[in-house]
Amino acid sequence: MRKILLTLTAGLTALPALAQTAPAAPAAPGFDAAAALARIDATIDKQYPHLDALYKDLHAHPEVGFQEVRTAAILAAEMRKLGFTVTEKVGKTGIVAILKNGEGPTLLVRAEMDALPMEEKTGLPYASRAQQTVDGKLSFVDHSCGHDSHMAWWVGAAAALAAMKDQWHGTLMFIGQPSEETVSGAKAMIADGLFTRWPKPDFGFAAHVAPMPVGTVMVKDGVVSSASDAIDITFNGVGAHGSMPDKSIDPVMMGSRFVTDVQSIISREKDPKAFGVVTVGAFTAGTVNNIIPDHADLKLTLRSHDDATRKLLVEGVERTARAVAAMAHAPEPTITQPTGTNAVHNDAALSARSAAMLKTVFGKDVQFVPASESGGTASEDYSVFIDEGVPSVFFAIGGYDPATIARYKAEGKPLPVNHSPYFAPVPEPTIKRGAQTLALSAMMVLGNGAGAK
Ligand SMILES: [Zn+2]
Ligand SMILES: [Zn+2]
Repeated sequence: MRKILLTLTAGLTALPALAQTAPAAPAAPGFDAAAALARIDATIDKQYPHLDALYKDLHAHPEVGFQEVRTAAILAAEMRKLGFTVTEKVGKTGIVAILKNGEGPTLLVRAEMDALPMEEKTGLPYASRAQQTVDGKLSFVDHSCGHDSHMAWWVGAAAALAAMKDQWHGTLMFIGQPSEETVSGAKAMIADGLFTRWPKPDFGFAAHVAPMPVGTVMVKDGVVSSASDAIDITFNGVGAHGSMPDKSIDPVMMGSRFVTDVQSIISREKDPKAFGVVTVGAFTAGTVNNIIPDHADLKLTLRSHDDATRKLLVEGVERTARAVAAMAHAPEPTITQPTGTNAVHNDAALSARSAAMLKTVFGKDVQFVPASESGGTASEDYSVFIDEGVPSVFFAIGGYDPATIARYKAEGKPLPVNHSPYFAPVPEPTIKRGAQTLALSAMMVLGNGAGAK
């Protein structure tokens, strides 16, 4: 189930930091973003001590994908308190929280609930020492991707919208998604009837914390993240004594040849202008010096932005593995593809409209990155909801104090990115900006006078 956990690279750090002026798309008629923000802030400011405690509790008690039982129960209770109708165990550990408020569009707002199997090293007073069993092994668990911030701002946005029901109409569908890091939780929720047991949303919003200055909201038109495909390969050889290589078919030799040859897909077959990565993240074979083992296990992650490159990488990796085995007179390799997800594509009209609206209240903190710029290299299974036909915007929200960014720069050290054991967003401004962004975007599509577009 959890085959590619650590192969997912850091968050949205590779997004181009190119600030552009958003196209002057008008905000919805009748929607006054400044007035809405004043109402939203009134709730969020009042709620903040609670959101802070919630965040620190979730941070100290992280749970890995499909084991988010405590987390889901806490979120379900929070949403029930706000008046939402909550269904639990959707897609194993996911939750669906619905708030109906008259006729109008249905809006999806998604947060991910899972953490990563790694040890936190931030030294924060609320740092995690939690452990869980992952693939049969006890592992430390850490919210090092920042999904704890997402859950806190998701509850904050829900609280703000619940407190201003006189200002909007429609249906809120707030979902707590399991297991994003294995890019399998969104699929699990869809397979469990997310868009058949409940109405398919007309719009969707989600946001990810990123190592940018707090206050920053990045809106990327078009491709936001990469497609991600995990591939597991076992080279099946013939084991023998270490002194008798002629009696073996050596899988270590096959694996080694494969690791270098497979990169020729990137350097010789892929369009040099197209983004594509092939990484062998794990290579395990053998036990001791004097035994040639009978198999070698490799785990790969493939990343791309467009369909043609995605197909080329998957086909090229499989072809190279089979060719390497044939060259060694070995049996066919065993090739499986445990998970895969498409790139996240933000909706063009909704991205432009959101960026223009947010700029009216957040000014230069809003960065609009046009579709012509490359997306990030990390992946996100929010793409599953978009591919199901929910036009969406996936925002990136800054999580670092500018002084921290400056200090790392002055010391010549790389800033800890998502998935680093030192990743540590500043809670209050991060959570508030995320909650404001999601609540304002919800008001933009559901607010009185906005109408269903
Ligand atoms: Zn992550
Ligand atoms: Zn993440």
